[in-house]
Amino acid sequence: MTRFDLTPQSLVEGLQRRLKKSLGQNFLIDENVTRTIAREVDNFRPLHILEIGPGAGALTLALCRLELPITVLEKDDHCAKYVQNIFGEMPEFCVIHGDALNEPLPEFCSQAEARAILVSNLPYNVASQIYFRFIDADLPLVGMVLMFQREVAQRFIAKPGSKHYSALSVVGQYYHEIEHVLDVLPESFRPAPKVTSTVLRFVPRKRELSEADEQRFRRLVHAAFALRRKTLSNSLAGYLGLDKTAWAEKLSQLGFEPTVRAEALSFRDFIRILNVID
Ligand code: SAM
Repeated sequence: MTRFDLTPQSLVEGLQRRLKKSLGQNFLIDENVTRTIAREVDNFRPLHILEIGPGAGALTLALCRLELPITVLEKDDHCAKYVQNIFGEMPEFCVIHGDALNEPLPEFCSQAEARAILVSNLPYNVASQIYFRFIDADLPLVGMVLMFQREVAQRFIAKPGSKHYSALSVVGQYYHEIEHVLDVLPESFRPAPKVTSTVLRFVPRKRELSEADEQRFRRLVHAAFALRRKTLSNSLAGYLGLDKTAWAEKLSQLGFEPTVRAEALSFRDFIRILNVID
């Protein structure tokens, strides 16, 4: 069988291993999904792809058709060897066997001219951690196309005032313009997960804050959402040594109603608050 005869299904069958729940191993078997993700990747006009968690290589197979250099980073020994066997002959294909949470990232990720893109059907148990690892590394990626559990994806794209709007929405939307690409039903995977998944595209925004201010921003947002049913001055009472009255004053200086809640504020509103509390 050549690489061109392979399908997501045949790749997953060929693995002949019990899949590991602890590594979030739900593998795609639906070629419509893998091709849609690859098309979305292509829209960024990348020059180098980094895929996290290739598993049996279903998504890798669709990405190969873009004929770009691909580097995959896989934690599971067996999967790392398997994709090396299947795709290793391809020019400019590289397997890194390691943990996406701490493995040093390949150099091309730090080179703007490499126009690198991050692509992944993320392992669900560490999906947000992997996202934040890449945020904190501050790489000049052209974008990211990532699959999350639908509940997490809904938080990433939620608008102020909506049910799913949360600290993850505010922080995520500061770093990226985030758009929905497609929902993926459980039957598109083997084994089928219990929940629907969603693919999102992330286009980097210009970072408006210094690195130190970004950390202050993230702490402020998390403090504001810790008690999301309360008014903002109540949630923030005690934060940075300011009591409820002091917070109410600061918020009214910025033109916010005394009853305003964290869930009504955009990331730009939080930046305005940050600017009056130095
Ligand atoms: N890309 C394949 C697909 O779409 O069919 C597999 C996706 S599966 C949801 C997640 C993959 O990430 C698995 O192959 C798993 O072994 C791998 N993985 C889990 N934790 C990881 C980590 N910390 N670093 C790198 N890979 C990891």
